[in-house]
Amino acid sequence: MRTLIKNGTVLNADATTRADVLVDGETIAMLGTDLEVAADRRIDAADKWVIPGAIDVHTHMELPFGGTFAKDTFETGTRAAAFGGTTTIIDFAVQPRGGSLRQGLDAWMEKAEGNACIDYGFHMIVSDVRDDVLSEMDTLVEEGVTTFKLFTAYPGVFLSDDGAIFRALQQSTRNGGLIMMHAENGLAIDVVANQNATTGNTDPYFHGTSRSPIMEAEATNRVIRLAEVAGAPVYIVHLSSRHALNEVRRARDEGLPAFAETCPQYLFLSLDDLGNGFEGSKFVCSPPLRPADHQEDLWLGLVKDDLQVVSTDHCPFDFHGQKELGRGDFRKIPNGLPGVEDRVDLLHHGGPAAGRMTPNRWVEVISAAPARMFGLPQKGAVAVGLDADLVIYDPNRRRTISAKTHHMDVDYSCYEGLEVTGGADVVLSRGKIIVDGDEWLGERGDGRFLRRQRSGAFLR
Ligand SMILES: [Zn+2]
Repeated sequence: MRTLIKNGTVLNADATTRADVLVDGETIAMLGTDLEVAADRRIDAADKWVIPGAIDVHTHMELPFGGTFAKDTFETGTRAAAFGGTTTIIDFAVQPRGGSLRQGLDAWMEKAEGNACIDYGFHMIVSDVRDDVLSEMDTLVEEGVTTFKLFTAYPGVFLSDDGAIFRALQQSTRNGGLIMMHAENGLAIDVVANQNATTGNTDPYFHGTSRSPIMEAEATNRVIRLAEVAGAPVYIVHLSSRHALNEVRRARDEGLPAFAETCPQYLFLSLDDLGNGFEGSKFVCSPPLRPADHQEDLWLGLVKDDLQVVSTDHCPFDFHGQKELGRGDFRKIPNGLPGVEDRVDLLHHGGPAAGRMTPNRWVEVISAAPARMFGLPQKGAVAVGLDADLVIYDPNRRRTISAKTHHMDVDYSCYEGLEVTGGADVVLSRGKIIVDGDEWLGERGDGRFLRRQRSGAFLR
């Protein structure tokens, strides 16, 4: 099957070109002006952009959390992702405490295989650092699971102490893996959260105020310094505050290989959203939403490359029946927000459409940097020989975000009623058209497991 995409503007992280794109089978075969070659079908992309399929490096499909499960399965979550222009996700497999990394990886492979509609890879959440687990990390790197997430938050569930984190960082210098950190001081946060709950401050709003941005900055600096001593790069996930950003910037100005992502919720939503009684539970995630004045600092961080990636931390729970588990006690609200479908448009809307960043920088943070940093050289650019993961993107389309029309399997949207500029018209995954306007043409099981290379975090 050959597909010719005519008259579009090819938008890569490093260049904008008027070019036609020939897709042959699963890869991009030719790029050129006025290509006239035989093809089985043609797509007219006049007035549209042709961008590399977006890559979301932080999702949690079917994650068990707080006695329930994140609602999207690998099927529903990846289909929703595709409607939003995302053609690759990297999800998190979880090591059971006391068990092996292998057990966790096998369990998540089983959830995804035959169900995912787009390509997927895995990071490994390390819940329990032991000698045998450290050597298992080496094996996983060889198998294409090259990134490992540890936590300074969630005592008793995911929290690793500084010694364990340091050992994992040291191991990553030997095996070429990359350590990703959820950086918040979970022990101190729990003290404040418990004080709030016992004095009657039980509304979702107090989830936000229990988790000071200083507690995020402290843990961010701590893990960066542990990485510095270990001689390892480190990647901070879901950075939410000016305070933590300042720590990453300081480290980068010192020349350290410290990297960070933020998420759309920290760029568009704020502590105020947590304030509306129990409705605020729809916005409970960790780190929490911050006062609105943090948002412009994060946008600036993205523009100046102190933040390299935008991912979603997609982890949806229904308001009815799931978020409601925390009625009367914010500590019991499942943490997480839906977002995998909306990231590309939100970032376009607040980025190039709002004049905050160039279209090329937008492609960098949603696709090119994720591909480079997470070892996916066949993705992240519109270039000959790479996978034909392509989005025909209409920068002028307007749509209103709503739970009534989104494809995520969750009963609310954090952005209900927001009108955004920009939208994916046609989405190709390895050469196959999977989304055409409102029509779904993909299939469950089309997605393949991606064996990733060692992280390119050191490569700029
Ligand atoms: Zn997460």
